[in-house]
Amino acid sequence: MKKNSVWFDGKFMPLKSVRVPLLTHGLHYGSGVFEGVRCYQTPAGPAVFRIKEHIDRLFNSAAAIEMKFPYSRAEIVRAAKELIRKNNLQECYIRPLIFYGEKMGLSPLGAPVHFAIAAWPWEKYLNHDRIRVHVSKFIRLHPDTAVMTAKITGYYFNSILASLDAHAHRADEAVLLDANGCIAEGPGENIFFVKGKTLVTPKPGMILAGITRDSIIKIAKDSGLKVVERNIKPGELGRFDEAFLTGTAAEITNISQIDRVIYSRKPKVSRELAKAFSEAIHGKIKKYRPWLDFVNK
Ligand code: PMP
Repeated sequence: MKKNSVWFDGKFMPLKSVRVPLLTHGLHYGSGVFEGVRCYQTPAGPAVFRIKEHIDRLFNSAAAIEMKFPYSRAEIVRAAKELIRKNNLQECYIRPLIFYGEKMGLSPLGAPVHFAIAAWPWEKYLNHDRIRVHVSKFIRLHPDTAVMTAKITGYYFNSILASLDAHAHRADEAVLLDANGCIAEGPGENIFFVKGKTLVTPKPGMILAGITRDSIIKIAKDSGLKVVERNIKPGELGRFDEAFLTGTAAEITNISQIDRVIYSRKPKVSRELAKAFSEAIHGKIKKYRPWLDFVNK
């Protein structure tokens, strides 16, 4: 099969040949769920990072909007790995997407459910190593307005507005507050702060509990750092030494400043964590190898 194949409704096919009808529910109302997963090169060939957790989250997201489809988690993991092999990719980003198909009217019940997986090389999501961040005027959705543990496509209008707001303020990325006025997360990333040997990060509830976030917490604890999950007020931003974003797309991205607050030019702790994370995803640290699912196995 030629490069640039995708998996769509159970079959591998060229990306170009997928046609989605104009009256697709997911297109009009954002009734889709998705994941972002990464595959990395390791000494034992390409390996997908924490695919089990991503596919679990995908299936939980789908259940939140009552989607039904005939594939098991294991079949989706197999399809994703086969897609990487077919496209001859070594390091790539994998995008599973499930969406409600052709039907108009807000209730999606009765609409067909489509399941797609695409994969492509996607090196850097955020272009700079040290980015400028703006606290957006748009706040995160309140947990009573949405299921915050689900990655539902429609929610991302909120992230899009915040990103546009950040760019209008000449920043590279946004950070959103939650409904209580505390720091929540980026449009597609979690956020961490460093003070001495302590990492501080917003606690789950109002944020997406990211898989990269979870990995960094584990690596930090294993390296002897203290990790505190708590509410963070914007007024505290100047008290931290370093700040960084985490996410599957963004990986570990250091923050140089948030609006007028400037962080250390030599973010020692963030760099050490980024180094350990990079070694873990590339299969160089034995204890984190269970996070990897080898593509050629
Ligand atoms: N928050 C939001 C809103 C996101 O979209 C993402 C990306 N999935 C994250 C945080 C980071 O999550 P993960 O580390 O699982 O990619």
